[in-house]
Amino acid sequence: MSDTLTRYHELSKHIEVIREKAPLSSKQVKLIAVAKTHPAEAILPLLKAGHRVFGENKVQEAAHKWPVLRRLYPDIELHLIGSLQSNKAKEALETFDVIETVDRPSLMDALVKARGVGHEALGKCKEFYIQVNIGEEPQKGGVAPRDLPALLQHIASSPTPDALPIAGLMCVPPHDANPAPYFALLHKMAKEHNLANLSMGMSSDYKTAIRFGATHVRIGAALFGKRG
Ligand SMILES: *Cc1c(COP(=O)(O)O)cnc(C)c1O
Repeated sequence: MSDTLTRYHELSKHIEVIREKAPLSSKQVKLIAVAKTHPAEAILPLLKAGHRVFGENKVQEAAHKWPVLRRLYPDIELHLIGSLQSNKAKEALETFDVIETVDRPSLMDALVKARGVGHEALGKCKEFYIQVNIGEEPQKGGVAPRDLPALLQHIASSPTPDALPIAGLMCVPPHDANPAPYFALLHKMAKEHNLANLSMGMSSDYKTAIRFGATHVRIGAALFGKRG
């Protein structure tokens, strides 16, 4: 068995153990296998083992890597977890099933325009999350927590609110701090706005994230090994 596969089985078990013990945890926690920088050969063992949910942080890299894998495994669910420029909206919609990094009105407008509405909607992307800059760090993407209501209102009050179904929130807490209060805040914000999905937690902090109700954890290094 490949190292990745061994780690995958252990991680999956571990996620379930933590989830079952935590009173605030979600009924189900999806593991997003973050495959950035890793080639198709590194991903195939997971696909063969039945895993289907993956994450990438760059549109270009994903657009090169995944069409071939999708031909082999049509039920892949690919999440964009890195920042998105408006001029790549169309390519992102054609490449990803879920875009987790919507964080500003101009990007919402670009996605709506590129996607279109109704059954003619472009691409496979069905779900969008808002990225929240939960620690209000200047170098990070995401909407400031106090601006979330206005951003949600921007799409809700547009002529085509259904064109961008917002299903959840995503965050990356500050690197060197205890993540617990940030995860708790994101959980509270999702509840307030009636958003079902919470994408939070990475290799270093997924256990805490699950305890605070993560529905999706995004894990790279603990699965594929350290990135070169
Ligand atoms: C790379 C990345 C991850 C995975 O991080 P690991 O520490 O490798 O688990 C999760 N979320 C985002 C936004 C990332 O860019």
